[in-house]
Amino acid sequence: MSIRENLLNIKATLPLHVTLVAVSKTKPVSDLMQAYEAGQRVFGENKIQEMTEKWELMPKDIEWHMIGHIQSNKVKFMAPYVSLIHGVDSLKLFEEINKQAQKNNRVIECLLQLHIAEEETKFGLNEEELDDLLQSEIFKNLNNIKIVGLMGMATFTENQTQIKKEFQHLKSIFDKNQQPTTHNLQLTTLSMGMSGDYQIAIECGSTMVRIGSSIFGGR
Ligand SMILES: *Cc1c(COP(=O)(O)O)cnc(C)c1O
Repeated sequence: MSIRENLLNIKATLPLHVTLVAVSKTKPVSDLMQAYEAGQRVFGENKIQEMTEKWELMPKDIEWHMIGHIQSNKVKFMAPYVSLIHGVDSLKLFEEINKQAQKNNRVIECLLQLHIAEEETKFGLNEEELDDLLQSEIFKNLNNIKIVGLMGMATFTENQTQIKKEFQHLKSIFDKNQQPTTHNLQLTTLSMGMSGDYQIAIECGSTMVRIGSSIFGGR
């Protein structure tokens, strides 16, 4: 099936409140353009340099989401245009994003990445680290970032029960932090679910799914 068909088929199954991020990492601009021409306007990339090259080449009404692990020294390249940064998991990174956002005279929206999977390798904060970060004075004084939600990845497993438990856990943290405690925090977006598990994620309350291979094919 074509990229267009894949995209339209997936979109047809998504509830209206769920945003589709088309994850186009490693794919050529010609593939992204096929999705664009089928109406897609939100793209996710996991490398800042690759995303910036694509941003330069593609139409300017696209929302670019950074979904990968971020190196501080590269934040400046995406600061002028990035719409949402999904994987923020340290105060240091927030400070750098804030600094670069300030230079560009804008507020950059971010999601906090939580560690919900069993695997050691995935990035993200645990609940205690989340509380510490949200309560820190440094965080409260960052005026050019806004945390608009949470992001997490479930364990890569066939075990649906386990995946569900992990997504439910993230949803419960999301629900627990609905009361804004600072001016730069308001959790409305819950980014969870990829090609293999997005239906479960939606059942568990996801409002944003990041889908790559089911749209663009394997990498
Ligand atoms: C690559 C990636 C995805 C998309 O994965 P697929 O299985 O291809 O849908 C989603 N989220 C993150 C963080 C990724 O790195």
